[in-house]
Amino acid sequence: MHTKYLNIKAFSLLLTSLLVLSLCLACSSPPPSRAVLVVHGGAGVLDRAKMGPELEKEYRATLAAALRAGHAVLSQGGSALDAVSATILPLEDSHLFNAGHGAVFSAEGRCELDASIMDGAGPRAGAVTGVQSVRHPILAARAVMEKSEHVLLSGAGADAFAKEQGLETVSNEFFHTERRRRALEQRLADDKHGTVGCVALDSAGHLAAGTSTGGMTAKRWGRVGDSPIIGAGTWAQDGVCAVSATGWGEYFIRGAIASNIAGRMRFGGLSLEAAGSQAIHKELTERGGTGGVIALDSKGRFTTPFNTPGMFRGWVTLEGQVTVKIWKGE
Ligand code: ASP
Repeated sequence: MHTKYLNIKAFSLLLTSLLVLSLCLACSSPPPSRAVLVVHGGAGVLDRAKMGPELEKEYRATLAAALRAGHAVLSQGGSALDAVSATILPLEDSHLFNAGHGAVFSAEGRCELDASIMDGAGPRAGAVTGVQSVRHPILAARAVMEKSEHVLLSGAGADAFAKEQGLETVSNEFFHTERRRRALEQRLADDKHGTVGCVALDSAGHLAAGTSTGGMTAKRWGRVGDSPIIGAGTWAQDGVCAVSATGWGEYFIRGAIASNIAGRMRFGGLSLEAAGSQAIHKELTERGGTGGVIALDSKGRFTTPFNTPGMFRGWVTLEGQVTVKIWKGE
């Protein structure tokens, strides 16, 4: 009798432990969320109080609209490349982001724009740096990839190429905004964020990435950041991952951060999340760099590591569910 009672007690204890264990496992490892497209709108020392609720709402709405534009392409069977362009176009036209209209000023008071795009299926890539009259630098980067035998075109030559390709050109004043003018005049260190980028995965399993920026406020001497540098600011490789970076470009170039993440996965066997985390939280941070990346693998797993107080970011699932975040810990 006594033994039987003990057996029952042991059995119920075992059951309880199993239940607790499975509950713990369920809590600590939620099913990984998947996305077909991830976007960023720059990382930096964002201050919520300074931004104010109205502007925050506008940022969120603009990012959500861009995500929906990219999702519309994918849901109709379009390519990851087309989805990346479709997502970046409205962000380049928005005054909120440091890309296209809304780009930061150089020390000479001009807007000099950089962009790059990469098709993981090729791999193929195209980029422009220092363009001053192409309304949509991301389209110029794409034209370099698709219509020339080059990867990177610069300055007046890149502007002329884009015009020859029939892309829309505007006067440099089109890019000028009051907010960025103030940032130049006051050399506002905290108002230089807003680079935009996108990574996408299409139904054929192809990955693509693109990045577009005005660079850094008050840049001089033809300074070029990471955004138009394939491997530093942008990377896409089918079967591995697609990455777009934002932050202090010089550090991303020195660490070849975007391709570095793919390398950690390919040669180090790391997951996308571990590779992204090591590249940003270890390598970039230990060297004193600031910023973040968005990265997506060919299974739709994604990660958005950054070491700044905020990074404008968002993603959309296959079903079209949109999420937008700005702050750390959000
Ligand atoms: N990475 C860009 C650059 O260095 C700037 C940024 O992302 O904020 O030009």
